[in-house]
Amino acid sequence: MNMLINGKQIAKSEKIEIINPANNEIVDTVPHGNRTDAKKAIESANKAKRQLKDVPSHIISENLYEIHEEILKNSKTFAKLITLDCGKPIKNSKEEVKRSLQTILLSAEEAKRIYGETIPLDACAGGENIIGFTKKIPLGVIGAITPFNFPLNLVIHKIAPAIAAKNVVVLKPSIKAPLAALKLAEIIDTYFEAGVINAITGFGREVGDEIVKNPGVDKISFTGSVETGLNISKNAGMKKLTLELGGNDPLIILEDADIDKAVDAAVTGSYSNAGQVCIGVKRIILDGKIADEFTDKFVKATLKLNVGDPMDIKTDVGPLIDESAAIEIENKVNTAINEGAELLCGGKRDGTFYTPTVLDNVKSNMNIVQEETFGPISPLIHVNGIDEAIKVANDTKYGLQAGIFTCNINNALKAAQEIDAGSVLINKPSTYRADNMPFGGCKMSGMGKEGIKYAVEDMTKIKLVILNPI
Ligand code: NAP
Repeated sequence: MNMLINGKQIAKSEKIEIINPANNEIVDTVPHGNRTDAKKAIESANKAKRQLKDVPSHIISENLYEIHEEILKNSKTFAKLITLDCGKPIKNSKEEVKRSLQTILLSAEEAKRIYGETIPLDACAGGENIIGFTKKIPLGVIGAITPFNFPLNLVIHKIAPAIAAKNVVVLKPSIKAPLAALKLAEIIDTYFEAGVINAITGFGREVGDEIVKNPGVDKISFTGSVETGLNISKNAGMKKLTLELGGNDPLIILEDADIDKAVDAAVTGSYSNAGQVCIGVKRIILDGKIADEFTDKFVKATLKLNVGDPMDIKTDVGPLIDESAAIEIENKVNTAINEGAELLCGGKRDGTFYTPTVLDNVKSNMNIVQEETFGPISPLIHVNGIDEAIKVANDTKYGLQAGIFTCNINNALKAAQEIDAGSVLINKPSTYRADNMPFGGCKMSGMGKEGIKYAVEDMTKIKLVILNPI
């Protein structure tokens, strides 16, 4: 597939191979975009932004509805592309496409309700009879930089609200999984003037770096690791930033929890997309009174998962994104075992595949639960009661989401109050996300919110108009 700059498909002789992580076969090649390509895309976006700001909102909304129809028609192709380059089990890729369709519909709706407000200027002396109102106006050029693990929906979470608010976009999808994003850009391009959407394939250290530093970009909307996020915040200067970064989400299970539901939640939360989910359950915090019952049922459920070819509809857990990611997980598990963790199941690597793994007797200070682990690993930490559970949940530099299973309303509300995270989910795993909810973490998990209405808020600026009747 090709890059898209100023409405043109750009091929290059220098190419990057896109590898299927399930079998190491080459799925496709994409052009090796560089700094010059990023500059051209930013120039074209700056020309296009002058036209887009004058397009009426109802036209933008209609276009987004039609883009939704086009994605719907191509649903199977999108799901296949996601599975081919990111290795996600096909049933989950289909779910991602369904969510993407919702995300674009939410944006089509939001395009028609971007309101300002009137300001009661007479609340201050001297403001009598003066009229003040605000408008929300586009920022201009949004630099969208995205990770490999939700290569369609997370891209739409940036592009669609950006366009709904009349911004233009320069997109740099993950080079590990760019295919769905390139197909999406191709579709969006047919509904707007050249330059409204640009997509550059290349490496973050060059293409991403140019987008972050170039003064022709007004905002960076980034989703990815803490390390890259910190780098971006150092380099972005005065640009507005949204940083959706890593997580280390806890799932607390108290003595009064519905254990079977908690087991289901822990399985979905820990192993979806082979654990490569920012809001995946990364730490299971168990009250001592139910630890044995939970652990027994959880290990049995983990052993039932089908690990294998992600194109097979029966597969629950596919490969990791590449072999180095799988080796990193293998090393982390081995280190945890050397530090005293007990391996209850899993713990085996075969190339890019790593078996779903339960580790018991994990201590809160071990590396496996202090740093984000992006793989199918469930570390169990034992605690005694709600206070210790909250203390352990907060013992991390991350703060994305947190889940708690309890039937006690007081414990639920205490956790909601005291856990330091962007969202606290009661009787749901942290992995739950509805695409319209305010989404985004605190501490090292980032800044700013996504979820269409909230993304639009962060992609517009307020202009005040003062009208003094003479
Ligand atoms: P990553 O390595 O940080 O890469 C993310 C994107 O940043 C890629 O497109 C990458 O380019 C680009 N990039 C790398 N260096 C850059 C630089 N110096 N300047 C600008 N851009 C640069 O993350 P990943 O491995 O793809 O994704 C996994 C991480 O994302 C995990 O930590 C996960 O928790 C997080 N994540 C967070 C959320 C959330 O909503 N909070 C959602 C999903 C994932 P390349 O193409 O060269 O890699």
